[in-house]
Order: sequence, then C-alpha cells, then structure tokens
Amino acid sequence: MDDSRARAGAPENQAWQRAGSPSPRRRRGALEGSLPLGTWWGIPISAAWSVLIIFGLVAGQLGMVALPIWHPEWSAATTWMVALGAAVLFFVSILLHEMSHSVVARARGMKVEGITLFVFGGVSRIEGEAPSPKTEFLVAIVGPLMSLLIAVAGLVGASLLGANELANVSEENLGEALASLSPGATMLLWLGTMNLVLAMFNMVPGFPLDGGRVLRSLLWWMTGSLDKATRWASRVGQGVGFLLIAWGVGVLLQGALLGGMWRILIGWFLNNAAKASYRQMRVSQALHDVSVARLMQREPPTIAPDATVGDLVQLALRVEQRAIPVVEDHELRGLITLEQVQRLPEGQWDTTPVRQLMTPAAQLPNVPEEMPAQEAMQLLSEAEQLPVLKGHELVGILRRRDVLQWLSLHLPGMAPPPAPGTSPPSSRI
Ligand SMILES: [Zn+2]
Repeated sequence: MDDSRARAGAPENQAWQRAGSPSPRRRRGALEGSLPLGTWWGIPISAAWSVLIIFGLVAGQLGMVALPIWHPEWSAATTWMVALGAAVLFFVSILLHEMSHSVVARARGMKVEGITLFVFGGVSRIEGEAPSPKTEFLVAIVGPLMSLLIAVAGLVGASLLGANELANVSEENLGEALASLSPGATMLLWLGTMNLVLAMFNMVPGFPLDGGRVLRSLLWWMTGSLDKATRWASRVGQGVGFLLIAWGVGVLLQGALLGGMWRILIGWFLNNAAKASYRQMRVSQALHDVSVARLMQREPPTIAPDATVGDLVQLALRVEQRAIPVVEDHELRGLITLEQVQRLPEGQWDTTPVRQLMTPAAQLPNVPEEMPAQEAMQLLSEAEQLPVLKGHELVGILRRRDVLQWLSLHLPGMAPPPAPGTSPPSSRI
C-alpha cells in the first residue's frame, strides 16, 4: 500500500497528488535518499543512509571497547554476535518508540506520512499540528513511555537471566560480576539501560524533543494559545541546546574529544530544530487559510507545443520567466524551462519544436486553485513552480518565490523564510 493518505479516508486529497506516474525521486512516505523498509501497520518506514554511521558506532563501541572489557574471556564470534544483536535491537527499540508516536497520532485523527530513521535516532513525519493540547500530549508522551517499557522489559529479562545479583555487589566487584553474565543477560542489560537513557533524554523539555512537546501541550492547555506555547517551548529548546553545547565544550576541554563533539553536535541540532520548529509552525499557520489562487500568477505567458525553441527564448526573455507552460486548446500540455533549452545547441533552436524538449504534463506535479497554499508548499520543495489547473485548463502558475515573498511580507521578523523541503512537515523525535 503506497498511499497512506487515501487510506486515512481523505479521497479528496488524491486530486492533489501528482498527475501521472509517481516521481522516481520521492516515494510517498520515504524521504529523498533514504532506504524504504516497508510498511508496518499502515505506516511507511524508511532509513536514511546516515543510520549506518550510528549503527557502526554502536556496534563498534560494543564489539571493540565495552564487551572486551566486561568479557575478556569471550571469543571474537560471541563478542561480535552480542554487539551486532544489541545494535539491531537498539534500532528496533527506536523504531518501536517512533511507531508508538505514529500509531497514537493516527488513532487521534492525524495524518501520518511515515517514519524515517536517521543519525540521531528516528523521526515520525506527522502532517500538521495536533488539533488539541490533549492530542499533542498523548502523541508526545507515548514515545518515552514506550522506551521506558522496553527498558523495564530488558532489565527484568536481564535479571531473570542472572543480572539481579549485580544489585548486591560492591563497586570494586562490579567488573567481576559483569563478567559472570551470560551473553543474553549482557545484551538485555545493555538494551534496558540504553532505553532508560533514551526515555530520559527524550523527556528533556527541549522542543521538539518529546519532553518539549509535552511542555508545549501543557503551556497550550494553560494559555489557550498554540503560538505562545510553541514560542516558549521553542525558547526552552534553544536553551537546552546551548546548555548541551556548553557542556560539550567543557568535556572537550577536559580532553574527551568524542564525548565533547557528540554533545556539541546534539546541542547544535536541538538548538536548530527548536528554532526551525517554531518558524515552521508560523509558516504553516500563515499559509493555512490562503488558497493557491491568491498567491498564483494569473494568466501566465504560455507557448504552443508547435512553436520553436527560438520563439520560446524570445518570449522567456521578454516576460522574464524561466519556466513557460506549454498550452494547446487551453489545456496544459507540458512545461519548458530555460535550463532545458540550454542543453540544446543554439543552431537547432529555430528548427526544434517546444514539444520535443518540454516535460509532458503527465510528469508534472500540478495543483488545483482551491488547494490551501500550505499543501502546495510541500510540492514546491521539489519544483520551482507549479501549474495551477481548473479541470484540465491552466489558470495560473504558482512560483516558489511568490510564496516566499508573500511569507516575508506576512511574517515580518521571521525572514528569511525556510527553504521549502529542508524540513519535514512536522517531525517528532
Ligand atoms: Zn519520541
């Protein structure tokens, strides 16, 4: 099933999807450059290639550093089996954490685009903002609760396999006690501890971490204003990011290169994410009630499919437009850009018809004029401009720069507007 949106019971949205075959660059539910891992419970899962880096780090740290210290007597095969098994289970835990966000969001009526695993863990891409503080609270809190549940399961499992004796040994005998653990108990103990850390880290009140979203839902509930709540939660998030960076610098100065860099990187990421989340909310709020028809360019210059490329160049220069819709009998046949023209030797301009170079309409994304600009913005992350149709008739063209200009006029002080597509609709970690 590649169309989660239609399944969510919103068939009217189908008209807004690309005409013709789906783009080869972007499958629904998968971000560009990520590896699709199938659809689970109706939620498309994918992994960014950067996951391999963190997988290698986790498995490598266990296989080369931690396990050889705890269990010097283990064979290399046992050590690596436990290291790889633990790393896989760690990613399964992260996936379960994200699944819990997505499943609750869907149960509360929100549209879930999919889950992507990446270098800092995972993100659930959930469209739009939660409709109420209660939904926001439930969707946010369930993730850390899931991690806590896995932590408890791992630690209980480990203690059933003999790790319970660890609680009774003194610190100097801890190494010896750890060495006595079986591979299974070691793996579960590690997994449980990691999930405990994951649950605690996610509850840090830095928006857009889960804890920050919980904080925002409470502020929203208390103030009745999503905007105020997001602004405050975002400031706390930026503050937490700065604290992490400062901590990382402190650790770095003490000589721990990797530990310091890692904290700085996460702090920087959090700080940026907090800022971006607030901006994104303002942008989607501003575009929510505006239709494509209001922002589009009406009656754009067009060209006939049989006109020559030479004619097109003259027209493009006169109207200062880099992309010209190709129209015949009022119907959109395609779109031709100056970039496409540049690939043709100049000597052939006057003998080549536009039809031969254009991108045919069937391969073009397009939007109806009544579509909210917020939705069109997502398509504009992939295309510089979108033909606006009424039936098959071309009524206008929506250019990315027009939307950005409108935003900079309506959101003063927020400039520059975000480059569309650099951040998913609404990500939660
Ligand atoms: Zn989460």
